[in-house]
Amino acid sequence: MRAVDWRRSKLTKFIAEPQTEFDIMDDEACLTVEKELDRVVSKLEQLHEIASVEIGDVASLMSELVNVLGNAEQMLVTTLNAGTQMNAPGTSSTDDPMGDGVNMQVETEPAAPQRLTDSQMEIIREAILKCNDRVQKLSTEHRDSHGSVSKIGKAIDRNFSSDFSSTMRVDALQDEDNLMLLNKAIAKHYCRQGMDEVARTLIKECKMSENDAQDVFDSEREFAEIYSIWIQIQKRELSEALKWAIRHSSQLMERHSLIEFRLHRMRFMQLVSYGLESQHEAIVYARTNFQKFAVRYEHEIANLMASFIYLPGGLEKTPYKIFLAQEMWTELSFTFLKDACQLLGISKNSALSVVVNAGCTALPALLNIKQVMQSRQVLGMWNGCDELPIEIDLQPEFRFHSIFACPILRQQTTEDNPPKKLTCGHVISNDALHKLSNGHILKCPYCPVEQNAEEAVRIYF
Ligand SMILES: [Zn+2]
Repeated sequence: MRAVDWRRSKLTKFIAEPQTEFDIMDDEACLTVEKELDRVVSKLEQLHEIASVEIGDVASLMSELVNVLGNAEQMLVTTLNAGTQMNAPGTSSTDDPMGDGVNMQVETEPAAPQRLTDSQMEIIREAILKCNDRVQKLSTEHRDSHGSVSKIGKAIDRNFSSDFSSTMRVDALQDEDNLMLLNKAIAKHYCRQGMDEVARTLIKECKMSENDAQDVFDSEREFAEIYSIWIQIQKRELSEALKWAIRHSSQLMERHSLIEFRLHRMRFMQLVSYGLESQHEAIVYARTNFQKFAVRYEHEIANLMASFIYLPGGLEKTPYKIFLAQEMWTELSFTFLKDACQLLGISKNSALSVVVNAGCTALPALLNIKQVMQSRQVLGMWNGCDELPIEIDLQPEFRFHSIFACPILRQQTTEDNPPKKLTCGHVISNDALHKLSNGHILKCPYCPVEQNAEEAVRIYF
């Protein structure tokens, strides 16, 4: 049933996050497929219940059978010991305790000593029949469930578009260099997550050059460390994270990052939660590590210290339990990931995941425009150009450069035409500034304060 649960949680995830990476699926289609999926899941759960009972029955029949055969063997040994002959058929029957073999020997060698009583034979026969019957029944039920499983596939086909050909540039990957770039992006993605072995296999199989392969590992090494610490924080293990934060303490302070204090706070609360036996350790920890935050977090540290009054009874029923709640751990891990990546100047998402997620957001719009273009028979217009036919509105996390559009010229600013801040505080582009100024005098188009155009300063986003 685990696979079913996994599939279900996967689909629930698709539905729960329609606005993020799985924007491509529209809600109604998801619901239809989920309904179908629910039907199969409940059917399989029923089947699982029935199967457990049936298999339990078969198992108890089998153990009964083993008992019967054990008894028969015991009797046989007793008979043989009591008799004078110790011959081959006797040994062969202990070697072959299967019902069939014994049965045959009983029929073909009437002279041999009686091995199974009639009632034992009856039990064996009945057990085998029952087993066969149950197994048959189970396999029939299992086969019947195939139909409902394949219905899901059909529901997906019916509700989702599978033809993305018009939104693809198939020629892009026919170019060897492009293909290698893709392989590199995939290898880097694995590397970041500490799956070096997978990355190595890919590098080997796609015959990547040694330089490129080296670059894959070099560029992602720093992130791989951050990633493994991130996973550890999620497992409530702080030692590596604290070591990292202490190592980068001064840089973190410069950036006004809260992460070092938060990690210490979490560790401290963890110690307090262990109760009286950790009291001394917690006091020493606070003295050693909170010192440098004393000015900035004076009140917060005072609050934390008050938690000692709850030490004997534990933190479970106190206001302090919030510090150790699951959400706090999750938040801590993501703050660490964000701050650490920022400090090292690396992206917290791999290039591959950014591309795939941005692509998923863009697909529905592209498929829609395809329909429009098809109906107007202008589909060919799009092929071959480097730009998309429409503007795709990606979320802020996919915007890597701040954009400033000049309110006067209604153009995005560039390196050649940078944004300038006037003395009154309004911002316009350099070209607009020159167009509006009369000699050195400029009248702001918004306030409108008169000022010296030379005093405008370039600003960077
Ligand atoms: Zn102004």
